Amino acid sequence: MTKRSSSISGFYKLSPKRRLEIVKEFANLSEDEVQLLQSNASLSLKVADRMIENVIGTFPLPLGIAVNFLINDRDYLIPMAIEEPSVVAAASYAAKMVRAGGGFHTSSTPPVMIGQIQVVKLKDPEKARQRVLEAKNRIMEKANSHDPVLVSLGGGAKDIQAKLIDTSVGSMLIVELLVDCRDAMGANAVNTMAEAVSPLIEQITEGHVYLRIISNLATERRARAWCTLPKEAVGGSEVVHGIVNASAFAAADPFRAATHNKGAMNGITAVILATGNDHRAIEAGAHAYAAIKGQYSSISKWEENEKGDLKGEIELPMAVGLIGGAVRTHPVAKIALKILGVKTANEFGEVLAAVGLAQNLGALRALADEGIQRGHMSLHARNIAVAAGATGDLVNLVAERMVKERKIRADRAKELIKELGS
Ligand code: NAD
Repeated sequence: MTKRSSSISGFYKLSPKRRLEIVKEFANLSEDEVQLLQSNASLSLKVADRMIENVIGTFPLPLGIAVNFLINDRDYLIPMAIEEPSVVAAASYAAKMVRAGGGFHTSSTPPVMIGQIQVVKLKDPEKARQRVLEAKNRIMEKANSHDPVLVSLGGGAKDIQAKLIDTSVGSMLIVELLVDCRDAMGANAVNTMAEAVSPLIEQITEGHVYLRIISNLATERRARAWCTLPKEAVGGSEVVHGIVNASAFAAADPFRAATHNKGAMNGITAVILATGNDHRAIEAGAHAYAAIKGQYSSISKWEENEKGDLKGEIELPMAVGLIGGAVRTHPVAKIALKILGVKTANEFGEVLAAVGLAQNLGALRALADEGIQRGHMSLHARNIAVAAGATGDLVNLVAERMVKERKIRADRAKELIKELGS
């Protein structure tokens, strides 16, 4: 366990340079890593051109650090890449409240992903299904022969499932390959295996295989986080009741659930982006999981316990990696993972679940208390000032006046630029 604390008071008041010095010490960053984070071209055109097609430039985003996270008695600083104001502040604030109750606790299932193989044109679909199950070991051996590295690390294909589904074009056999991906997100690994076993599956079933691809509904690879906060830390019983009611609203109504979950994903996606992971995969998994019982619902739940304190939990699929994809090619992603200090993809997934729960709490607390706009619009005022043409010191002057007047609007920003800029 580390003695470094992520509870850094007044972090938000410091200059970016001073904040980076603190992070450097916390995460033991090298001088080169510090230089890279400070540079305006941390992702070179040369590297970018190797990452995707038709590159013409790069697209920088702010990289912020959420503080105060205590997860399973360990302190974490959380790197977030995001364009939306108030997300980093809300996560830090919520983590501070949770700290008062002993921090976050987490758990996760093994890093098993599902690869799907679609078999059609079957004379007897049920018989084909049985044959696949009988040939489980042969199919898994074939799959594993295509990723000796993963197998040597204790991963690889671990099981086979087979189900029949009714579709608009008839019955289909779906063979599912369950692959332990260890510290990889695993899409490439699983897709390679699914493709490799398909000729064998065609031979066994006497059918025809079309699709061979990973499922982003990673139900076998889930992360959970939970916490209990003393009611005083949240702002009293009335706020606790407001949060519990907000949670019940989201559980019952998909229109609210979409926004409730978006709030949790604000934090998770920001960390996913900062670490070069696949945010589309995580978003797809989270929202599909939210609808797994037939109606789209919330991925987190808040309740009042017998002492009147607030108890929260979140659970979602967590297909993240520490190797593979862009994780090791994007130079800032490597540094972001070093700042996080996670040792396995499972630990990473659990930290992400805690971040999602914190982000959700931050949003619900503001909604249940003062309303979301006060904090949000105060931070957004600076964006509006810049968009209206303010530069230099005028940005803060215009933003502060708009907040004071409670008129955070482009037309007012323009008037103030004229008035204060002259
Ligand atoms: P990858 O193929 O780059 O790396 C995985 C491989 O690394 C493993 O197969 C293994 O051989 C090796 N490896 C070395 N050390 C390892 C360790 N400690 N743990 C596990 N494996 C180790 O990447 P990937 O994770 O298989 O695929 C991720 C990429 O696939 C992402 O860029 C994602 O965007 C992309 N992708 C996603 C989808 C989807 O989500 N639907 C589909 C296609 C591709």
